[in-house]
Amino acid sequence: MAAMVPADIDARIARARACMRACTLCERRCGVDRMAGEIGDCGLGPEARVVHELLHFGEELELIPSHAVYLTGCSFRCIFCMTGEMVQKRNVRRLGTVLEPRRFAERVRQRQREGATNLNLLGGEPSVNLLAILELLRECPAETRVVWNSNMYYSAEQAELLDGVVDVYLGDWKFGNDACARRLAGLQRYTEVVQHNFVRARDSGARTIVRHLVMPGHIECCTEPVLQRMREQLPGVPLSLLDPYVPLFRAPRVPGMDRQSSPEEAQRARVLAERYKIEVIR
Ligand code: SF4
Repeated sequence: MAAMVPADIDARIARARACMRACTLCERRCGVDRMAGEIGDCGLGPEARVVHELLHFGEELELIPSHAVYLTGCSFRCIFCMTGEMVQKRNVRRLGTVLEPRRFAERVRQRQREGATNLNLLGGEPSVNLLAILELLRECPAETRVVWNSNMYYSAEQAELLDGVVDVYLGDWKFGNDACARRLAGLQRYTEVVQHNFVRARDSGARTIVRHLVMPGHIECCTEPVLQRMREQLPGVPLSLLDPYVPLFRAPRVPGMDRQSSPEEAQRARVLAERYKIEVIR
């Protein structure tokens, strides 16, 4: 059963718009006036752009087929980004086409007729595109099931606007400590923000899944602390392990991050998940 488009969607859209006047959509909190065309760290102004959309069969089994929508812009600066070109500031307002809510809702309907069981918003990163997404949902069939495929680094202001809109939080919990988050993705206060958002997502009643990328040489500093926090803060929430890590984008030039994660590291992550009694769904 989908969350249904909330009755106060217009009020939420107005609040998202207000939030972008001195942008605090994500925890970078740039404070720029995106509605006036100023550009923050994500590279976005008022509009969202779709680079690609498709009926996707590569997500977790319970989510396929999924209507995946790739939007430009991101709040992270991962050195190993899989979609590096889409999130580089010089490309964010150049690639793809502007998301026009009414027109794109037609495409959502078409994908639903083709068998899509959900609308899977990703990028890049959906949270930096909140306004356009809410405007799109207002035009979509009420029963559209929304998957929030996110890095979970959004602000408390945004978390409030997502409550009751999102059916499935498919969130990344990449780093197990703030030093790795700062060094590998240029982030501050990562652990606090992401943990808070995961707990809130779970408490909203939405299905919540933690995705974790097994990075080379990061089992002790990242994988194990993430699993420990899951056990303490998110009992019952399943884990989806992503492996192997592949050194894309800038990673080939970063010592230690320039190799694939090994089968032994993936196996070690699974053993740890078992030890912490966490259900692994992939
Ligand atoms: S969404 Fe985040 S990165 Fe983009 S302008 Fe707003 S606060 Fe900055």
